[in-house]
Amino acid sequence: MAVKPGAGANFIHEIIDQELQAGRRPETVRTRFPPEPNGYLHIGHAKAICLNFGIAQRYPGALCNLRLDDSNPEQETAHYAEAIKEDVRWLGFDWEERLFHASDYYQQLYQFAVQLIEAGRAYVDELSAEQLRDYRGTLTRPGRNSPFRDRPVAENLALFERMRAGEFAEGQCVLRARIDMSSANINLRDPTIYRIRKARHYRTGSSWCIYPMYDFAHCLSDALEGISHSLCTLEFEDHRVLYDWYLEQLLPEPRPRQYEFARLNISHTLTSKRQLQQLVDKEYVTGWDDPRLPTLQGLRRRGYTAAAVRDFCGRIGITRNDTLIDMSTLEHCLREDLENRAPRVLVVLRPLKVVIENYPDGQSELLDAPFHPADPSFGTRQLPFARELYIEQEDFMEQPAKKFFRLAPGREVRLRYAYLITCTGVVKDSAGRITELRCRYDPASRGGQAPDGRRVRGTLHWVACKSAFATDIRLYDRLFTEARPASQQQDWEHCLNPRSLEVLPGSALEPGLARARPGDHFQFERQGYFCVDTRDSRPGRPIFNRIVSLRDSWRRHSHSGRPTGSRT
Ligand code: ATP
Ligand code: MG
Repeated sequence: MAVKPGAGANFIHEIIDQELQAGRRPETVRTRFPPEPNGYLHIGHAKAICLNFGIAQRYPGALCNLRLDDSNPEQETAHYAEAIKEDVRWLGFDWEERLFHASDYYQQLYQFAVQLIEAGRAYVDELSAEQLRDYRGTLTRPGRNSPFRDRPVAENLALFERMRAGEFAEGQCVLRARIDMSSANINLRDPTIYRIRKARHYRTGSSWCIYPMYDFAHCLSDALEGISHSLCTLEFEDHRVLYDWYLEQLLPEPRPRQYEFARLNISHTLTSKRQLQQLVDKEYVTGWDDPRLPTLQGLRRRGYTAAAVRDFCGRIGITRNDTLIDMSTLEHCLREDLENRAPRVLVVLRPLKVVIENYPDGQSELLDAPFHPADPSFGTRQLPFARELYIEQEDFMEQPAKKFFRLAPGREVRLRYAYLITCTGVVKDSAGRITELRCRYDPASRGGQAPDGRRVRGTLHWVACKSAFATDIRLYDRLFTEARPASQQQDWEHCLNPRSLEVLPGSALEPGLARARPGDHFQFERQGYFCVDTRDSRPGRPIFNRIVSLRDSWRRHSHSGRPTGSRT
């Protein structure tokens, strides 16, 4: 699927533009998206995906690789790798034949390590993990040289070979780069290159028992793939000197360069795999594809479209400033995308029965209703109308408040695409709760127009009782009540939104919705955008997820910290 190149240039584009002006050929621009297959992708990853694949689309001849950065055998699985590929494809990007794995390079990375040893730039260290930490020093205290630092090359080569052969236990020794234990940058204090892990790797099985560290594997994988611009988030800024150091020791120019950008943070949610994992493990959500999570699987199941997510990533831009993007920005992109794409339907979420006293019992009729008021190409359907109808509970007030223009005793309102009705009475149960409204309709107002042009302010959605389709509707809301649930002062477990999921069991839907298929999108008129759940729906029994309400009720009511449903 072709993706429109973002018109707005970001600072990475500016860097590339300058290089092209200075004579670089666009075919030499190559980026990569390098997820670790130890979890599912989230909206933050979408930013990195759109940035990297977006560059390949922006410059003719430029390419973007998908690289699974799999050098930790313990948590990585083929399942995660497949899920990542599915998510990148869903977002609309195609790596074609350029799928790579860090584990493809294990043999070459091993050879590079041998080269470093031969050049006197790496050594096998037998300090314990605790000693290694102590010798490394701190931000204020320089490190100390290990007693093993000056081993002869031949001894290091022999020991490294024995490490690989599995002769040592985990933690017994590591291979370290020999750089500078007094460097102000801790990353340069003889960082570990290889450690022993006697775990099965999901791709290489038990072929290896030593695994390269991220900093070593990443820059060399970039170089082996001919990556020109290695884009990563700001926390890697201090690692850039090490990135460059390994490459300078081992490979000639042209070498890849690392550029950092700010990670995406969104309000009212978490965007770190580790924290998302905790939400799943502690069962605050039902799984990685819970529609409340910002994982791409969760967003997709909620009903977010790939176009909306890409649009969002384009709008937030790429900078080096750490900011918090409001969730409403993402919601806005979804509304904009679905405004012109989702058919409008009538659904009463919380029904209140209405009896039209002057409509003959047993009679019914079909009323034409367009699926999209502004776009005839959506077509129309016929809505059954009869004596007994449902309207929304919140569309009636016995004692109407100021500015409440909906139904009230003695008041006339319009039923969308149907008739004008006037409330003539209220039926209550023994507890005083309203169970039914009595109304009269104006038979001359078919289609909803007053025959004499009299003013009718409120227009309500409705569904005829007899033909209504009943199913579960899930109203999803923000997972957290605080904008920054993960900030240091705050323990996110205490600001989980208790109303992040409300299941409505008794809603009344217009009958055609019984045929809605998983993944279908709709606008429920006056309510919001909804999508048929892809996991729990059954043929003939679709379950609907609310993606987002029609308006941003959080922003308007942010002082109360809670959304309200009041609309006119
Ligand atoms: P997390 O921080 O959620 O654990 P990660 O960085 O460990 O994620 P990786 O699989 O290593 O996950 O990420 C792959 C790529 O996605 C990296 O280049 C990383 O910089 C980028 N990325 C991860 N999170 C974000 C984010 N929130 N915003 C932008 N890019 C991100
Ligand atoms: Mg990471």
